[in-house]
Amino acid sequence: MPERRRATRSVLPWLTHRRMIPKWVALVAAAALAFARGPAPHAGWLLLAGLLAFFPSEYLVHRGVFHFFADKRAGAVVSRQHVEHHRRPDDLDFLFNNPLISVGVGVLYFLVALAVSRSVAAAAAFSLGNFAGLLYYEHVHFTAHRPGSRPWTPWSRRMKRFHLWHHYKHERLWFGVTSPLFDRAFGSDADPSQVPPSATVRTLVPTAEQQEWMRR
Ligand SMILES: [Zn+2]
Ligand SMILES: [Zn+2]
Repeated sequence: MPERRRATRSVLPWLTHRRMIPKWVALVAAAALAFARGPAPHAGWLLLAGLLAFFPSEYLVHRGVFHFFADKRAGAVVSRQHVEHHRRPDDLDFLFNNPLISVGVGVLYFLVALAVSRSVAAAAAFSLGNFAGLLYYEHVHFTAHRPGSRPWTPWSRRMKRFHLWHHYKHERLWFGVTSPLFDRAFGSDADPSQVPPSATVRTLVPTAEQQEWMRR
């Protein structure tokens, strides 16, 4: 595939898909609130703290909400989209997270930061970092699945392989999309050669390209 086409495939839907637009709007709104009257004191640190706070919530929501409720009737509504994503991993309509949940978690973070700091600008700087983490996550996840796309960094290329194991080896392992850190800490990492495929993933057939990524 020509490099230019590969680059377009790696970016355009992430920028423009209808499930992504509310997340970009949230990012711009947080930036406007954070900097409209000059930056809040320690804005850079708050931004970094918000960014770092995103990653545990990524793991927690994926494992503790989407997969925890996947086989339970109560609360199934919150995991329905993710269950569909596992049935059709490359379908963009299920690949990008539900914006209501993603932006909702971001707004919760904003409210907690507001309660602690009592400053809208400080809470917004924290949220700006948090939404930047969300958009980064969506890009890593998107390029992990999109045929013909290429993740931007060696790290995200490594995470592509990690996430494909989650889809094509066993969906109860490898929950981290941007990092394996929490899987290592909470026992959901494993040597893929020692893990027999789960019943669910046996209904899926990875493409030749995906098989190649998983072998790297
Ligand atoms: Zn996925
Ligand atoms: Zn999953």
